[in-house]
Amino acid sequence: MKCALVTGGSRGIGRAICIKLGTIGYHVLINFRSNLEEAEKTLDAIHQHRGTGELLPFDVGNKEDIQDTLGLWIEAHKGDSIELLVNNAGIKDDVLMMWMKDEQWENVMRTNLDSFFYVTRLVLNDMLLKRYGRIINVVSLSGLKGLPGQTNYSAAKGGVIAATKALAQEVGRRGITVNAVAPGFIKTDMTENISEKDMKALIPVNRFGTSEEVAHLVSFLASPESGYITGEVISINGGMYS
Ligand code: NAP
Repeated sequence: MKCALVTGGSRGIGRAICIKLGTIGYHVLINFRSNLEEAEKTLDAIHQHRGTGELLPFDVGNKEDIQDTLGLWIEAHKGDSIELLVNNAGIKDDVLMMWMKDEQWENVMRTNLDSFFYVTRLVLNDMLLKRYGRIINVVSLSGLKGLPGQTNYSAAKGGVIAATKALAQEVGRRGITVNAVAPGFIKTDMTENISEKDMKALIPVNRFGTSEEVAHLVSFLASPESGYITGEVISINGGMYS
């Protein structure tokens, strides 16, 4: 089986990516943290598009949980390979730095940055052996330009961007590409408290983006034909200067 692992696939951008990858022939491993009901909706949508998938819940911010769940899956599926990894799961917890609590820094770093390391390291070995792989990290405009109120989130996403560039140089010879996509404002639960009406004047295309538009970009980078693109960060933000 040709498998794709999408972290944070129960909702938002991750769900759209799962559905898109299901339509292009991947067996999709849908990771999420706790929202089983929404994760099942993602799986149903994949089935409706005649694709296949399965649920793989674990906390990407917990290295023991990653090892126990993903590590076990890999052990139990020796014949199958995860040839595409989309590190998409993420959280934000915005507050000005002078008011930021230790937990707010640590949770955001663990979920957005540490997760990249622990999940990718597990999946990488098989890609190296097979001499083929696609790793796509969902970062953010915040990680490129920094946004006030998001020192934790900006630092975490900026860290993933730097790691994307470094890892791309390590594994390029083995047929593995590593890229990042950097969305601006996308309509999901994460942005439900941000007014599109108020913000759209700042966006040249004059609207928020959709999860499906991000999924389209991810599927482009995932394709075998994109093998000469690596170490890149591709913005998808409606033309906001970054
Ligand atoms: P969302 O709607 O809030 O969905 C978040 C997803 O991540 C859910 O599937 C959630 O699972 C999962 N998740 C959160 N913490 C997790 C953990 N510890 N372990 C496993 N899964 C976890 O977010 P989104 O807007 O789709 O964002 C997806 C990615 O895009 C994030 O990395 C975000 O930083 C990035 N991004 C989003 C925007 C935007 O405007 N929306 C802009 C730039 C970048 P549960 O359902 O189980 O909670």
